Amino acid sequence: MKRWIRIFIITIFAFAAISLVLIQFTQTRRTVSINDNMFNIGVTNAMEAVIKEVSGTLLLPDGTPSPTFRYQGLDSLISQHLLTNGIDIRPVVGIYDEGQSSLLFASAAGQERNLEDSPYRYVFTPQNNAGSNQYYILLSFPSAQLFLQRNSNLLAYASLILITIIIVMFFVSIRALTVQRKLDTMKTEFINNMTHEIKTPLATVSLACEMLRDESISNDEESRRNFLAIINDENQRLRVLVDTILQSAKMSKKSFRINPKEVDVHTLIEKVTQSFRLTLSNRGGTLDTRLEAAPSIVVADEMHLTNLIFNLIDNGIKYSTGAPHITVATSVADGWFRLSVSDEGIGISKDDQKHVFEKFYRVSTGDIHNVKGFGIGLNYVAQVVKLHQGHISLESELGKGSTFTVALPTN
Ligand code: ADP
Repeated sequence: MKRWIRIFIITIFAFAAISLVLIQFTQTRRTVSINDNMFNIGVTNAMEAVIKEVSGTLLLPDGTPSPTFRYQGLDSLISQHLLTNGIDIRPVVGIYDEGQSSLLFASAAGQERNLEDSPYRYVFTPQNNAGSNQYYILLSFPSAQLFLQRNSNLLAYASLILITIIIVMFFVSIRALTVQRKLDTMKTEFINNMTHEIKTPLATVSLACEMLRDESISNDEESRRNFLAIINDENQRLRVLVDTILQSAKMSKKSFRINPKEVDVHTLIEKVTQSFRLTLSNRGGTLDTRLEAAPSIVVADEMHLTNLIFNLIDNGIKYSTGAPHITVATSVADGWFRLSVSDEGIGISKDDQKHVFEKFYRVSTGDIHNVKGFGIGLNYVAQVVKLHQGHISLESELGKGSTFTVALPTN
């Protein structure tokens, strides 16, 4: 996906998401106010029915409603009618005598002030109320706010959760698209590099075969051996290349197993270094060995160890701008077999050193882009080392060279 398309989609989505939040916010506020109105209508309806039932109550000569009046039953009666009107809260109930400016009754102690201030007051006329004394039934809903809020909050929370899910899913999709795009680019680069890396040795082998077909060359023992060595070296390069790609993919699986047996590392090094002889002589390079490990035997997977050594030497040569000077050294100490491959090449910066063992990581240095690779060689090397319970370290300085040291346990 192109960058501007991505920005466009994100902008549209952000706009839609913000609008959705605003709409939801206004909607919630409207719901709160509708809930408020419904609540008030419900209370009024309930109280009309209650008043109808209780207004026949006798008034005593002193002006107060008769003791037969079921004060205590009043709040249950009100609650019952409120429930019929869909309001599931028990209010505090009071009877107010306006003439005396005092409360005759309150269903809960300490609520007198709330009752007197309450907007829910309903005229209630006892049966023989001859005077001008007005009586009111007062209601106070200490938990009404909570009740209303709970209903509205539920709605607001549900919307908020849904909006959050949409936003999260959107970013997950964008991320998936970006990763997909990166993988596509990597795949294309990988195929390009692989084609290049395979084509070069194939072309060299084909040229060497062509030469060998020429009788004047094949009859000359020296030239014949030379071309056969070229074919052998390129064959070895192709084998390591294919192994690195295939094994690297297999190694990430948990079920992957190595095939360890006693191997003489010095013999492997001799074998591998042979295949670089021609390349090195073509580039005027050298390869020195300081094989000091005694004994030189380790228990390891021969094929993977061979590929490991090949990859490290190959990198040393690849990442040297002038004539490559490679040193391969071995030693044994403290139960560890150490194998190091040093070069005097371009070196690796401290920042890149942290990443070179990651799969597909390649240092992007403009002038060295002509060096083809997949960025899996060192990752494969690191995986081989790990499978052998060893460890790998890297010392490098930009412009001066690098030393990769592999340590394998000797027992
Ligand atoms: P590649 O196929 O690109 O060589 P590797 O996994 O072998 O992949 O190496 C990863 C990156 O580490 C390389 O692209 C290169 O930039 C850097 N690198 C590896 N070995 C050396 C070395 N000996 N000297 C300098 N840079 C190196």
